[in-house]
Amino acid sequence: MLREKWHSEAYVRAYGQHLSHRLPLIYCVVIFNALLLVWSFHRTAPPFLSVVLPTVLVFFTALRAWHWRPAAVRRRTSAMIVHDLQRLPQRCLMISSGFVAWALMLYSYGGDPEQDVIQYITAITCFAGILSLGQSPRTAVIMATAVMTPANIVFLMHDNPNRVVVVAVQTIITVLLLLITTAYHRDFVRLERSRLELSRHKHSIEDMAEAWRQRSIRDPLTGAWNRGRILVLLEKGLGAADGVRPWLALIDLDGFKHINDTFGHIAGDAVLTTIAERIARTPHIEACGRMGGDEFAVILRGGLDDARVHAELAMLAHAIARPIRLGDLSLNLHASIGYYRCQGQSISACLERADTALYKAKDLRNGAVVAFGEDDERTLLERQVMTRVFTTADLREQLAVVFQPIVDSDTGRPVSFEALVRWSPDGRRLLSPAAFISLAESTGRISEVTHVVLEKALNEFPAWQWGCTLSINLSAHDILRDDTAEWIGGLVRKAGAPPSAIILEITETALVRDYKRAAANLASLRAQGFRIALDDFGTGQSSLAHVHNLPLDHIKIDQSFARSLNSSENARAIIATIRALSVQLGLECTIEGIESVEEQVAARALGLRRMQGYLFGRPAAAVESRRLLAA
Ligand code: C2E
Ligand code: CA
Ligand code: CA
Repeated sequence: MLREKWHSEAYVRAYGQHLSHRLPLIYCVVIFNALLLVWSFHRTAPPFLSVVLPTVLVFFTALRAWHWRPAAVRRRTSAMIVHDLQRLPQRCLMISSGFVAWALMLYSYGGDPEQDVIQYITAITCFAGILSLGQSPRTAVIMATAVMTPANIVFLMHDNPNRVVVVAVQTIITVLLLLITTAYHRDFVRLERSRLELSRHKHSIEDMAEAWRQRSIRDPLTGAWNRGRILVLLEKGLGAADGVRPWLALIDLDGFKHINDTFGHIAGDAVLTTIAERIARTPHIEACGRMGGDEFAVILRGGLDDARVHAELAMLAHAIARPIRLGDLSLNLHASIGYYRCQGQSISACLERADTALYKAKDLRNGAVVAFGEDDERTLLERQVMTRVFTTADLREQLAVVFQPIVDSDTGRPVSFEALVRWSPDGRRLLSPAAFISLAESTGRISEVTHVVLEKALNEFPAWQWGCTLSINLSAHDILRDDTAEWIGGLVRKAGAPPSAIILEITETALVRDYKRAAANLASLRAQGFRIALDDFGTGQSSLAHVHNLPLDHIKIDQSFARSLNSSENARAIIATIRALSVQLGLECTIEGIESVEEQVAARALGLRRMQGYLFGRPAAAVESRRLLAA
């Protein structure tokens, strides 16, 4: 029972402190009573009994009293208190035996009054001891037995008329006191236990509350702050009393989706955790967190200047690009980072600006770090205006479709036409897709755009009637819909067009977002007879893997290669490889962006026949395209 009690540290401390408020007192009573005895016997007893022995006893008792003073006990470790408590019965036995032996040795040196004094003092000291040792009943029993047994024997042996009555009364009182203190001790233990239980309960509730709090502010996977917490910290930074606004950097991982798709979610999770650790080690950061998916945010101290922030973030991008080892695997990815010096605006305005810079960085690829600049501010404002206009625009009225030929460069005849959308917000200007396709995506109207383009293209320019195909660009969102195949198939059937005359152009963005779903939708479109082309080929990061596994019919080599056809041996080598690959996989290959005869000749020398570019025809309205065909 005792050992079990020592298990609870809090209990041991409470117990020790309780005793420390009583033990010094009883030791003082013992010393006071010893001095009384010395005073009663100093004339009659020999010096050994009246001076030497009491001095030694008083000295040791004083030492014990000093040892148990409350301040000293408070400072002790619980292990030390346990040690003291375990030795308490033994120490009390020594002191009480010493005192009782001394008192009984004095007995024969006094007359009746002195002997009565010894009897009273022994009894009173014993009662006081029992009361003080209430918290250690075992010690109280040992002490009472050690004192009262020899004392009562000596009293009974001496010739005293009241001895039997006195001894009986003393014994009864001793037993009663022991019973009372033992019961008192039991209550104390019970009370102390329930108090500890209560405090343990309180702590576990506090622990639970803390766990909940952490869950509401931390990203469970990486342990970094979550989006909500980052926004709160950003808001605090924006309201800083010194007026120095923090820097906000947004980080997006290029190539993460690929790792997730190829190596599974466990590898993906490990990568995110490693990246979060690397980000957390960036110097001068005030906070970092995961905004969701593979996007992270970092808040940097406002005291840093632009050059310093750029240098720190470039170092971070470098750190993120270090290979990540997972067992035998060595994984590589890059971080695009966009950052912004927060001003007095709202959090969402700061986020929007850092996000704009991030998008620019992503366009540059391979670990670019881009600041949000003054030009961007202007672009952003224009974009906000455009967003408002686009959100309420009558798309059927304001969207137009133009057609650009794709020719067989050997015959010079068009074999296909690509439908390209234009937007005229005011009936005068014609905006190119670069100005509004991302608006259509962010405002959720991209499918409407595709719908209108498809209907208008099929109605205005039925290219199949001249033996040509018609290419339609699909956005990532279009390919990832639940009903992509039925939707596109329905529209095409309604226009009376054969699906085999329609080429659907897709870019890698959609594939990267959700490869499985995109592949499934493309397969069902293909099953209906549509042909699929992978657009802007060569600009993505994992093009080769996609070509291999996707249900494709065409690849379109990005126009950036046409630009370097005549200047870069490297570009020519890549084009030759792509062409060899397409032959091997039975895919048609088109090169985009041919502007000059030199580029045409160079492309032809590499074995390419299908070409698209200003050299053969700019995007033009349906009437002009019909005219071109007639010619
Ligand atoms: P894209 O699919 O790669 O289309 C080819 C783009 O390159 C067109 O720009 C075309 O005008 C341009 N181009 C063609 N030949 C040459 C050339 O020789 N030199 C140069 N410098 N450029 C050439 P456009 O019409 O501005 O379209 C830009 C992009 O917008 C398209 O790139 C396509 O990804 C997207 N887009 C166009 N129409 C639609 C649409 O209806 N829906 C969707 N979702 N996206 C569209
Ligand atoms: Ca295209
Ligand atoms: Ca293209």
